[in-house]
Amino acid sequence: MNNELLKQVYNPSHFKNNGHLLIDQLATHLDDKLHKKSRNAIPWNEPDQELQFWREFFIHGDKNDLFKEITNHTTHIHHPHYIGHQVSPPAPITALTGMISSLLNNGTAVYEMGMASNAIERIVIDIICDKIGYNTNSSGFLTSGGTLANLTALLSARKAILKQDIWNNGNQTQLGIMVSAEAHYCVDRAARIMGLGEQGIIKIPVTKEFRMNTDLLKLKFKEAKEKGIEIFAIVGSAPSTATGIFDDLTAISSFAKEHDIWFHVDGAHGGAGIFSKKYKYTVKGIENADSVVIDGHKMMMMPALTTALLFKNEVHAKTTFSQKADYLLSDSEHEDWYNSGKRTFECTKNMMSIHWFTLLKLYGEEVFDANVTSLYDMGAVFSKLIEGEPNFELALKPMSNIVCFRYCEPGLNTENLNELNVKIRQALLHDGEFYIVQTKLNGIQYMRITVMNPFTKTVHLQQLLNKIKIESKDILSNGQ
Ligand SMILES: *Cc1c(COP(=O)(O)O)cnc(C)c1O
Repeated sequence: MNNELLKQVYNPSHFKNNGHLLIDQLATHLDDKLHKKSRNAIPWNEPDQELQFWREFFIHGDKNDLFKEITNHTTHIHHPHYIGHQVSPPAPITALTGMISSLLNNGTAVYEMGMASNAIERIVIDIICDKIGYNTNSSGFLTSGGTLANLTALLSARKAILKQDIWNNGNQTQLGIMVSAEAHYCVDRAARIMGLGEQGIIKIPVTKEFRMNTDLLKLKFKEAKEKGIEIFAIVGSAPSTATGIFDDLTAISSFAKEHDIWFHVDGAHGGAGIFSKKYKYTVKGIENADSVVIDGHKMMMMPALTTALLFKNEVHAKTTFSQKADYLLSDSEHEDWYNSGKRTFECTKNMMSIHWFTLLKLYGEEVFDANVTSLYDMGAVFSKLIEGEPNFELALKPMSNIVCFRYCEPGLNTENLNELNVKIRQALLHDGEFYIVQTKLNGIQYMRITVMNPFTKTVHLQQLLNKIKIESKDILSNGQ
């Protein structure tokens, strides 16, 4: 055994020296990107070139350059021109709490391996439940991402609603859930993992505003029932990822109540709206949900992954993975809350509660209000800019910081416009000055932005539109 090597690996003064250097590097990176001292939001590289670079580096690269090169070869989330996917530019303090979690590595599943993080998690969860409008029967936990949280919520729903003991006996009948056709793909995936199959995922078409068409719920429920499908849950999107449009949570909750099924809100992106005085109305009705998902790493300035899964009734948070179907909490006691692994899908889980707690302790919950409110405001600003431009078109009037739009060169048909918009997006990606994404809605190709950075201002968005006009000219003059 090479003890010298291991001593070197664990040497505290190496940690200290590397750590100081790294913090200096990252602080410079942050200053550069946040204040736009460097041009690009993404230093684009084709996948094969990128692979080649790292193969080379592995053999010949200077190890002193390792962290710097990793940083240089990333998409720069803190750059105000990063307006692509819905990940937060983390508040720098949460990079430090991330480091604490990594070094201390308290697994959190059992109390003895996560004393502080379990206690802190309980406090954080209580604050979020209160903000949702739940009473003291509520509870929940933090888990690794919205995808896993949605799956967990649907497992809880199945256990709570159905009389059969599926956890022990497996699926014996055809079960189903109802969800908007525009919901995040992870809901579909969760249902398939649960053995519902395609036929068990009752997709509700959307209105022309891209909200779940709640007028169809009764009919769809009846049709499913006639086919022998037992529906146990309905999922509302707050908002749907592609469009940023919120389902009518109040209408969905009435329907769920009437039919004795579980009402789950996928608020991975917009659940954080509960903290915004101005935009709280977007999630009206969320307080009636049996369960709610909110991602910390989207609208709440935290590093991935950390997601809150909240339950109106704590019993359900507790029973999802228990062997006994009729498990009940001892009266009014939050029994065993400190062993979070009994409730979560994960066994080992990082100390994610410290990100939430630190932000709340240092800046107060106003910090979430400020962030959500300013980002949603910019969605409205961008939509005004588009409306003022003759050759641009909005897909929908935005309800959040997600905006879908396209460039419409006069005289081109739908097919040619689709092709043009794909090419513009591609040209932007390769150029790297801006990072935006794209989506297709009803056969029409749109570019899509999500304003995630509170330092993205009107001037940057106008620059994006100007750049799109130039790219479009270039593409068209190169003979489309
Ligand atoms: C992002 C998102 C998810 C997935 O969450 P992850 O944390 O990426 O796993 C689920 N639903 C919606 C509506 C989302 O926006």
